[in-house]
Formats: sequence, structure tokens, C-alpha cells
Amino acid sequence: MNAKLVGQFPALRPRRLRQSPALRRLVCETRLSVEQLVLPLFVRSGKKIRNPIGAMPGVFQLSLDELLQEAEKAYQLGVPAVLLFGIPSKKDERASGAYARNGIVQQAVRLLKRELPDLLVITDVCLCEYMSHGHCGIVHADQRGGKLLNDPSLKLLARTATSHAEAGADIVAPSDMMDGRVRAIRSALDAAGFSDTPIMSYAAKFASAFYGPFREAAESTPKFGDRRSYQMDAANANEALREVALDIQEGADIVMVKPALAYLDIIHRVKTEFGHPTAAYAVSAEYSMVKAAAAKGWIDERAVTMESLLAMRRAGADIIITYAAMDVARWLGK
Ligand SMILES: [Zn+2]
Repeated sequence: MNAKLVGQFPALRPRRLRQSPALRRLVCETRLSVEQLVLPLFVRSGKKIRNPIGAMPGVFQLSLDELLQEAEKAYQLGVPAVLLFGIPSKKDERASGAYARNGIVQQAVRLLKRELPDLLVITDVCLCEYMSHGHCGIVHADQRGGKLLNDPSLKLLARTATSHAEAGADIVAPSDMMDGRVRAIRSALDAAGFSDTPIMSYAAKFASAFYGPFREAAESTPKFGDRRSYQMDAANANEALREVALDIQEGADIVMVKPALAYLDIIHRVKTEFGHPTAAYAVSAEYSMVKAAAAKGWIDERAVTMESLLAMRRAGADIIITYAAMDVARWLGK
């Protein structure tokens, strides 16, 4: 629609429709609802462990018993899904904890699906938390530290995703950004009898400074170098569309843009271009910045959070992954 053609003042007075809360609600174009939220959770071994993450107030590394309580709280509040990240007790050069039958995520999935069968359990599929070097794939050591090997890493990622599906995961979510991983995971899942398990791919995942606090939470800081040889350059939007197109071709059921708030243009273009179910990941620093400023009394936490998430919805996100999911659920309920 051409905005020039809709009329002019004084016949047209946009303020007419802003006069009362009821009128404003009636013409509201974008809604945020609890059904669209996903809560990320960090699980580690042990009992009665609730390790707070310094830069993310309200977020914890949880042992299985505490994880169940947290997931139950979220479920009671109407949050339909959680996204699991595992912190293994030991790391190695093959990320064996990522695909171990009794790995921490596999245990968590089995527990949650047994106790809360209607809660959707999404698993992050990556190797970085399980690799001693902290990178998302197999590394070939060289003088400069190491080179991440794409194709050999695919086998381990596919194996990880399959082990999550075997444990009962409702959706697997590869976050590594290796080329061809969605295809590798799709074929492995199909071959193992999990052709109905959807893949939510971190399709356009940018190498971002906004991940800082997460690395403390997931204990996944790379021991050398950075992730710029696999995660995307923040400057590139057309490349993001190509990444998304590839993932859809390879079988991604849901595509994700990460981070969210600084990448609303990407979310918008992905949704407009492909019309595919689209998720936005409001990452750790997006959460930390709001928490920190709110703690100082500089901003209204609730209003800023709601406005930010609404902006993601307006940009085109169908699903929002946010550490604030439980707060938002409470606010929406009031
Ligand atoms: Zn990773």
C-alpha cells in the first residue's frame, strides 16, 4: 500500500485511533504472547546446584533436580518450550560428552520429557561446550593455533543431534555454523528413524560481542582465536539470506537469526523473503544490558523488555528465545 494515497488532514487524523486503551488495543498490529517464547536453560551435573551467572541476574547453571523445578515453573507460567545447553563435567578433543548416551543434555531431555511431557524440549546441538579447545567443531592444530575442519565436524554434529532425538528431544537446534550441517543432521535423523524430529537451525548466526555473558554461563569460551571463520560478519545481510536459503534447502524447519535486537533488519528480510517459521534469539548481553541499567534505576525493565521483544515480533519473528521468558510470561499474565 502506498501511504501517500490514504488521505490527508483534516479528514485523516491518526490520533483518532489512539484515544483510549481499548481503541489502541483494537488497532494493535503486533502482539506478543507467551506461546511464542522459548526459555534457554543451562544444565550441569550434580545435585541441588544453582550457580548464578554473574552477568545474567536470574539465570543459573542448574543440576538436573533444579532444572526440573525451573522448567516446571516456566511451564506453569505458560512458556511452551525450553532450549537446553549442557555443561559437561569433562571436555576432550572429540566432544564425546556431546553425543554420549548418558551425557548431561541427554539425561536432562529424558527427565523433562518424563516429568513434563507437554513441555517442548529443544536442544542446542553444538560441540563447543564439550571440546577442550572450546570451538564448535574438530580443530586441526597448526602454528596459528588451529583450523576448524568443516566436514569431519559434521559427523559429530549429526551424532549429537541423533542422540538428542533418541533421548526424546522435540526439536534439535544446530548452532555451530558449519557448512552442510543441516543436511548432515537431517539425513542422520532420518536414517535413525527420526524423520519427524524438526530442525531449528541457527541459520544466520553472527560473530557477536553480545554473546559475552553466555560464555560464562555455558563455559564455552574458545581457548585460542575466535569464531569468525564460521560465524557471520555483522556487516553482511545478503550473506545472511544465502545462509538461510541453504539451511531451508537442506531441511531446516525453523530458521533462526541470532542475536536479535541489533539484527532486526535481518529478521525482517528473512521473514519477508522466505516466509519460513522464523525465530529470533535475544542473546545474553541483550538481557544483561537491560538488567544492569534497570538495577541502576536508569530504565524501566519491564517496559524496555516488552518493547524490545515486540520489535522482534514486528520485524517478523514468530518465535522469541529469551532469558526473560518467565518474567515476560508473568507480565503478560497481568
Ligand atoms: Zn558452538
